[in-house]
Amino acid sequence: MNWITEKFKRFKPKLKNLFRVKVGPEGKLWENCSCGSVLYKQDLKDNLYVCPTCSKHHRINPAERFQLLFDEGKFEEIFPMLPIDDPLNFRDSKTYRNRLMTAREETKYHDSVRLARGKVNEVELVTGAMDFNFIGGSVGRAAGEAFITGADYAFANKLPYVFFSQSGGMRMQESMYSLMQMPRMISSIKSLKENQIPFISVCLDPTTGGVTASFALLGDINIAEPKALIAFAGARVIKETVREELPEEFQTAEYLRDKGQIDLVVERKNLPKVISSLILKLTNTNKTFQSDLGIVNEQQPSPISTITQAAS
Ligand SMILES: [Zn+2]
Repeated sequence: MNWITEKFKRFKPKLKNLFRVKVGPEGKLWENCSCGSVLYKQDLKDNLYVCPTCSKHHRINPAERFQLLFDEGKFEEIFPMLPIDDPLNFRDSKTYRNRLMTAREETKYHDSVRLARGKVNEVELVTGAMDFNFIGGSVGRAAGEAFITGADYAFANKLPYVFFSQSGGMRMQESMYSLMQMPRMISSIKSLKENQIPFISVCLDPTTGGVTASFALLGDINIAEPKALIAFAGARVIKETVREELPEEFQTAEYLRDKGQIDLVVERKNLPKVISSLILKLTNTNKTFQSDLGIVNEQQPSPISTITQAAS
């Protein structure tokens, strides 16, 4: 070890303190957007966490999502059963237990899916939302169980089920246990469909991997927020496999809507209105559905008209 390393070691803590961002009791005051804008956090919050410059829909956690969705921000939380942690005693660069502990401290919740019941424009529904900050919103046994609890609750109470996906896919630390959640979750959706209970899926940025490959694209209607990344495999892997240039908007919500995989791309501020209108239509109780959907982006004829005609 030379004298430079010795000196640096001594000054490193001082340098760290010098450049540390001061965080108050309410967290950071400023947010950076990918467009280069520096946004005052309260202004961003007032704009539903959508950048006023580039309209990027910033990620929000399930509690914030429920606040925005439900009438007057009121909802009743539903708590799923909790499986035991770490069935495989898994370890990579850190232990899985350690990763769970950190994620729980950061998100103040036990896993990546939260459930709630409440009213959206007076329409009662059950909803679930994923937290990307909890190990990338990945799905293990706890998240799978939560999804199924939401579907069972919707089934038992004859309420529509709306699910907001935001995930990197299945949780590798649970290996086969996480993959087994895919058929379980699909089966719970099948029960809803067989009993004419609407299931609406909303894909947020990003919705990828096993989540896209299972429940996220199985809604009676599949909605996405603008510019959301929705994919199974990553673009780079696909590009290297097919050895072709991919379209610029590849794997975005708009691209998938134009190809028919997503039914609607809806801005965050319009989601409550669109979701409640769709549910009323799917349950045959709405008379003013067409005018409500005036907000839908009309670039491409949407398969929604076919779906809603079939439902009426
Ligand atoms: Zn921006």
